[in-house]
Amino acid sequence: MPRETHEGSVQCRQEMEVHGTGRSCCGKYAGAGPCVGPAVLRCGSCGAPNYCSLDHQMAHWRDHRQECSRMAEQMMRAGAVHDFPFSFAEDTTQLVDVGAITVCSFLENCDLHLKGLWKAQCDCASSVEEFATPSDWQLPSRMCPCTDACQLSESHMMDWASYYSWRSLPLESPVALILHWPLTLYHAFCLIWKHSSTFRANVERACVIHYLGPEKELDMLEAFSELLALLPHRHVHIDMIGPGVSASRDGKALDLNEYPKCLDEDCLCKTSRGSGVKVRGRVTIKLWRGLYHERYSELETSPHFIFAPNAGLAAFPSWQPTLRLILSSKVPAIFTDYCEEAADLALRSVSPACSSPPTHNVQLNPFRQPLCPRDKQLNLPTYSNCFLFGIN
Ligand SMILES: [Zn+2]
Ligand SMILES: [Zn+2]
Ligand SMILES: [Zn+2]
Ligand SMILES: [Zn+2]
Repeated sequence: MPRETHEGSVQCRQEMEVHGTGRSCCGKYAGAGPCVGPAVLRCGSCGAPNYCSLDHQMAHWRDHRQECSRMAEQMMRAGAVHDFPFSFAEDTTQLVDVGAITVCSFLENCDLHLKGLWKAQCDCASSVEEFATPSDWQLPSRMCPCTDACQLSESHMMDWASYYSWRSLPLESPVALILHWPLTLYHAFCLIWKHSSTFRANVERACVIHYLGPEKELDMLEAFSELLALLPHRHVHIDMIGPGVSASRDGKALDLNEYPKCLDEDCLCKTSRGSGVKVRGRVTIKLWRGLYHERYSELETSPHFIFAPNAGLAAFPSWQPTLRLILSSKVPAIFTDYCEEAADLALRSVSPACSSPPTHNVQLNPFRQPLCPRDKQLNLPTYSNCFLFGIN
C-alpha cells in the first residue's frame, strides 16, 4: 500500500477497490478472469492474502508460493504489531479494519471530525489548507501537548506509553494518530544518534533533515512543532520534498515556534510567551515540489540525515535515481513502510547497491500510527510508519 510518493502510484491506488470485507482478491490479475464475488477466502497456510474463489487462489499461487512462508512468520508476529496502549486502540485498529466503524465516525465521536489538525485524517475535506490559518488540537488542555515539557531524558522515551507519560497525556487522547509523524522522525533521529558518533557531534546545535515524499502530513505540519520538545536547544530544519507538495506551496517556508493550541481559554498556551520559551530551539520546514534527485541541487543545505516515510521502495522503479543519489551521498537514511513485508522487500532491493550492511535492520517502529489504513490489501498487520530500516 505505497503512498503516492512517486509517479505510478495513482494507478496502483485505483486498482485497490475494496469489497465487503474491506479486502480485495489477490488473484484478480493472475489471468483467471474477473472475480466472482467478495474476497472471503484466505490462504490456508499464511492467512495473508484474500481470494474470491479457489480458482483465483490457485492462479495466484505462482506468485504467492515464494512469499507464503515468510508471510506466515510475519502473521505470527502480528500480536506485537497490533499492540498499542491506548484505550481507543480497538476502535481504530480492529473495528476500522473490519469496517465496523470508519475513521470519520471515530473522529465524530471525539468531536474532532473536519476540525483543526484533524482535517487531513480523512478525505472529507479537500486538501486546500494553506499556512495562513494555523491549526490547533481542538482538545482540552489535559488531552494534548500544547505547552512545553520538562526536559526529556533520552533513555526513558522508548514507546507510546513513555511518551504519553512524559507529556502527562491520558491514554484516551487520540493525539498519537497525528503525532506519529514527528515521533517517528524523532525515533529515526535517535536510532542514528545511537549508531554514529559523527552524527552526534554534528547535530548538537542544528540538524538538517531531508524528508522525502510527504503527503498527508503536509496538512498537519504544525504537529512537527512537537520536535521543539523532543529535540530542544537546536535548530531543526526539515526540507520536505515530494510530488505531493502542491505547486502553490513549492518553496514555502514555515517557522514553528509554538505548539498547536488547546481549547481551554485560560491555558498557558494562550499567553503570548508560554512557559519555558528559552529551553526551546527552533523548527523550520521548507516545501519542495518534485522528486528528490530533481530538486537536490537547489536544496540550500546538505542533510544530516534523510527520512523517507512509507516509502514503498520496492514498489516504485521511480525510486531508483533517488536511491542512487542517497547511496552516493553516504548520508544516513531511514525508510519506513506500511508492513514488514514491504520493508523487507525494500531493504532487499537496495542491499545489492549498498557498499556496507544496513545500519538498522528491518524493525518495528514503536511510534507507528495506531490506525488501520483503509486500502489494506493483505491481512498482514499494516500501519502508517509501521516498520523501518536504515542504510548509510
Ligand atoms: Zn478474485
Ligand atoms: Zn500463504
Ligand atoms: Zn471524514
Ligand atoms: Zn493549551
